[in-house]
Amino acid sequence: SAAPAAARAVVKSAKLANVCYDIRGPVLERARQMEEEGQRIMKLNIGNVAHFGLEPPDEIVQDMIRNLPAAAGYTDSKGLFAPRKAIVHYCQQKGIAGVTVDDIYLGNGASELIVMGMNALLNTGDEVLLPAPDYPLYTGAVALSGGTPVHYMCDEQSDWMPDINDIRAKVTANTKAIVIINPNNPTGALYPREILEQIVQIAREHQLIVFADEIYDKTLYDGAVHTSIASLADDVLFLTFNGLSKNYRSCGYRAGWMIVSGEKRHARDYIEGLNMLASMRLCANTPGQLAIQTALGGYQSIDDLVRPGGRLARQRDLAHDLLTSIPGVSCVKPKAALYLFPRLDPKMYPVKDDQQFILELLEAERVLLVQGTGFNWKTPDHFRVVFLPHEDDLREAINRIARFLDGYRKR
Ligand code: PLP
Repeated sequence: SAAPAAARAVVKSAKLANVCYDIRGPVLERARQMEEEGQRIMKLNIGNVAHFGLEPPDEIVQDMIRNLPAAAGYTDSKGLFAPRKAIVHYCQQKGIAGVTVDDIYLGNGASELIVMGMNALLNTGDEVLLPAPDYPLYTGAVALSGGTPVHYMCDEQSDWMPDINDIRAKVTANTKAIVIINPNNPTGALYPREILEQIVQIAREHQLIVFADEIYDKTLYDGAVHTSIASLADDVLFLTFNGLSKNYRSCGYRAGWMIVSGEKRHARDYIEGLNMLASMRLCANTPGQLAIQTALGGYQSIDDLVRPGGRLARQRDLAHDLLTSIPGVSCVKPKAALYLFPRLDPKMYPVKDDQQFILELLEAERVLLVQGTGFNWKTPDHFRVVFLPHEDDLREAINRIARFLDGYRKR
């Protein structure tokens, strides 16, 4: 009888060569091991809002429970009519014109729709402009779709605003789209109208599609106001992403949406592609869809958390004060979202490999953060801190970071 064939290694596809998502990368794996060994880790690594006693509004939970028995079936691929109608109304409030129910797609979180939007658009070699630092799903989604991620700089010296000159310099004949994350993860920046208008102008000149991530658009401090970039033009194609994960503290319900607006007439073929990809995954989870109308039409409890003296506002202030009082640490104060992106003075902290740095912090102090390069920031001199824990825990975690940095300086 024939000898059995030698076992062949099963390897991942070449498509994944440039895809990574370090927020849930190797350091997290080590943290998991440590927890299994019985150690308690302080996790300031992910924006898992519901894990910090920041519960979703009760009306949303009750809505999920009440709707569950009747939500066992598939829906239309774009989603149920009523929640999409509620999003049309939301568009009206945000000044995004000309949107009908047909332009709204519901997804299992915004994440699924972001990947879908890139997949439907990109051919090999097509370039997409992405912020540096970014939320790394975008870089991964572009690479997975065969496109080439091209990062434009956000400028720490000017409160992390996108560098308009850098964007202009990086547009080529192959550029298809530009991603704007506003409010921003990981920097907490909120872009004023003038910056958005300049980006719209570039998109108009070069016929770029704008992917606008607005998932933190209600998580705003100091009475700030958010402008949807899609409200600024009707002659540019916009895909706007949002959902319940952050503003409504319901990330486990996986309820997100995408709004297609602006210059849709010349995008019929692309929209056909989006519709096809939406059909291939049948539909978003039905209970999550049903929660959307309750969330948008209900009591906006996020306002109580972000107003001066509110829980998230206090935690932001405390985390910023404590971090910036560590020698050699500077940090732009976030105007929105749930994160700080502090900088280490490289003269005092000559970090060569920031993943190693974050791993050493974890081992020494049992505090888990994400390294700056995990957000496609090129130099190993930043890290991201999630300011979701209660004040006492935040104080404890940042004191431990300070102690670790003190030791690092004295090496
Ligand atoms: N976009 C940004 C900027 C995020 O920070 C996140 C989650 O952290 C997401 C999208 C993912 O959203 P969803 O839970 O709706 O998939």
